Amino acid sequence: MSENINNGNNGKNGKNGNHAAEHEPILRIRDLKKTYMQGKIPVHALDGVSLDVNKGELLSIVGPSGSGKSTLLSMIGLLDRPTDGSVFIDDVEITKAKESEAPRIRREKIGFVFQHFNLLSTLTAMENVDIAMRFNGTSKNKRKERAFQLLTKVGLGDRIKHKPSELSGGQQQRVAIARALVNEPAILLADEPTGAVDTKTREVIVDLLKGLSEKGQTIIVVTHDMDVARQTDRIITMRDGMIASDTGVNGNERHRL
Ligand code: ADP
Ligand code: MG
Repeated sequence: MSENINNGNNGKNGKNGNHAAEHEPILRIRDLKKTYMQGKIPVHALDGVSLDVNKGELLSIVGPSGSGKSTLLSMIGLLDRPTDGSVFIDDVEITKAKESEAPRIRREKIGFVFQHFNLLSTLTAMENVDIAMRFNGTSKNKRKERAFQLLTKVGLGDRIKHKPSELSGGQQQRVAIARALVNEPAILLADEPTGAVDTKTREVIVDLLKGLSEKGQTIIVVTHDMDVARQTDRIITMRDGMIASDTGVNGNERHRL
C-alpha cells in the first residue's frame, strides 16, 4: 500500500501503548460470517468478525467451547469458506480465490499446527518435514537441507531420524511446527498446540512460538489455557461467534474495527 496516513506519528511510538500504527497488517478480516446448518437450525459460528493482525504479532484467541475459534482458523487457513465477509492475507483477498487455487494459497501462505501433532507415524522427523515440501517443486537435496535447518531451529537437530513414537509429545509438536514453517508461511495457525502436553512441555512450545514471533513470524494460537494466552502479545476473546474483547499485552483494549 502506498499511502501512509501514520507518518505524523513517527517518533511518538508507544503513546497509545501499541505498535500497530507502524505496520501494515499482514492479515485483514472484514465482517466475516459463517453459518452452519445443523439440521434445519442455522448456527452462526461466526457472526461478523473484523480484525487486523500485524506481521510478527503473536496473537491468542480464547473463548468458551463453541464460540467460533476453530471456525475462524479454518476460514483464515482456507479449509472452509465463509458465508459472508472477507479475509485478506498480504493484501490478497483469499476468500475470493477460486476453489482450484485454494490448495496453493494454503500451502504458500499458511502453516498449520494441531493439538495432536498429526505427524505420519511411519516416517522419521526429517521425512515428516520433507513431505510438506514435496508438492512445491523443491529438489530432494534442497528439501533435506531445509528440513534439517528447520529441525535444528526447533531444537531437534539430533532427533532427525526418530519416528514420532520415539519422540516425546513436546518433541513431536516441535516437528509439527518445523513442518508448518517449510514454505515460510505468512501466518502460522495453531489450534490448541499445547492441549496435549504437560505444563513443562507447554513452556517449551510457548517459548518456541515467542522466539519465532520475535523473528517476524506472525502466529495465531487458539488456546483455552490462560497461562499460554497471557504470554502472547494480544488476546482476543470470542463469544457467540463475535469478538468480545481484544486486549494488548499491556492490558489496553485495542481499537475495534
Ligand atoms: P470453538 O473452536 O470455539 O469450540 P467452533 O468454531 O468449533 O468453536 O464451533 C462454533 C459453532 O459452530 C459451534 O456451535 C459448533 O457446533 C458449530 N460448528 C462448527 N463446525 C460445524 C460444522 N462443520 N457443521 C455444523 N456446525 C458446526
Ligand atoms: Mg475449537
